[in-house]
Amino acid sequence: MRHRFPGAALVALSLLVTPGAAAAAPADAGGPVPRPVERFARQTLPAGDGWAADGVGTTGGSAADQVHLVRTRAELVDALGGDNATNRTNATPKVIVVDGVIDGFEAADGGLLGCADLADPEYSQAAYLTAYDPAVWGMVPPTGPLEAARVRSVANQTKQTQINVGPNTTIVGLRGATLTGLTLMIDTANNVILRNLTFDDARDCFPAWSPTDGTTGNWNSQYDQVSVRRSEHVWVDHNTFTDGDNPDSAQPVYFGRPYQVHDGSLDITHTASLVTASYNRFVGRDKLMLIGSSNTVGPDVGRLKVTLHHNMFDRVLQRLPRVRFGQVDVYNNWYRLSGEGFEYAVGVGVQSAAYVENNHFTLAAGIAAEDLLYDWGGTAVTTRGNWVRADGDRARPVDLVAAYNATHDPDLGTDAGWTPALRHGQVLPAPLVPLVVGALAGANRLPL
Ligand code: CA
Ligand code: CA
Repeated sequence: MRHRFPGAALVALSLLVTPGAAAAAPADAGGPVPRPVERFARQTLPAGDGWAADGVGTTGGSAADQVHLVRTRAELVDALGGDNATNRTNATPKVIVVDGVIDGFEAADGGLLGCADLADPEYSQAAYLTAYDPAVWGMVPPTGPLEAARVRSVANQTKQTQINVGPNTTIVGLRGATLTGLTLMIDTANNVILRNLTFDDARDCFPAWSPTDGTTGNWNSQYDQVSVRRSEHVWVDHNTFTDGDNPDSAQPVYFGRPYQVHDGSLDITHTASLVTASYNRFVGRDKLMLIGSSNTVGPDVGRLKVTLHHNMFDRVLQRLPRVRFGQVDVYNNWYRLSGEGFEYAVGVGVQSAAYVENNHFTLAAGIAAEDLLYDWGGTAVTTRGNWVRADGDRARPVDLVAAYNATHDPDLGTDAGWTPALRHGQVLPAPLVPLVVGALAGANRLPL
């Protein structure tokens, strides 16, 4: 059977360039931001567009009196309220437009700090690699003065490269806007919008050796590109997440494991909920999106509700996403997966309820449909309307759960127990997804 839906693609394209409802707000007289940019920066999440549209919806900083144009880390921190240590609680509506590249390692004088500038005087990587080598130290967690110095170094870096975002905030980028070497931390901050930004290489100068992580130990890093914790109503739209010229694949190997300087791209944890991530492009990272960070049956129950639609997962390796507890709607995403290091796409974790519909999986040699789900202690996942194009094969419909169950035990059930109601516009048939998502997902694709 042939599937051709050019009309649907045109509808999707026209929906995309239709702005969301702009909030009524006074003009920013005399401001430095052109009116079309201001109109874009004040857009709010369209009604019904995923979990972030639930209830009161997501308006970000659209009610702000003025729009801030920022070009440096210091200007970004100023626009967020003036003090990175307290900005997390600044609920004044604010719209921030990023111009150019802002580096989390920028010092107050505009110069760039290096890892050595953030290291505690008693820490050195060379000393750490010598002291905690499993051949010397054994496979037990590092302790003692050198580990304490590493922890102090992490605290130094957090003050510098973790940028804290308060409630009622919109941050958008002009064409080419890039946030490099920093984490946007959305913690106890409801109603936040992030659009048209490139997040580049949020990196940890002081990774921790965790000898009891897995069978061989692992290096673990602290910094996500965007972290959402204890917050709701967050819309992450048309951004690119990349590690640029510092990919995971280029990291050295110490103690037989990759020296991992990156954590998640967009991690949603600690009872966060009502998040919509749409039209983002995630490139070349190992761990992408953790939804729920603990198996503890506690405050995460009933939370962690996330919608992922029209995102591109491009040569990324795992957690696409990994879900615990939440009702997570995963539709119309394009997964273009390459074989080297690939682990799985959707992780079915404890009490998770993922609904995976009309996605398209383009698979390199070495990846099969049975590899796309992973059972992290869950019981069921709804999958329908998905297509797979295996290497050297035609695209064809796939039953992801049946493919998984045929080669794994215990089997996963096929009913996650809910049906998504919050969707905006038409759900595309899976064969059209690469065309639409490939053209439109990521930063620098909106008509600005
Ligand atoms: Ca994380
Ligand atoms: Ca089985």
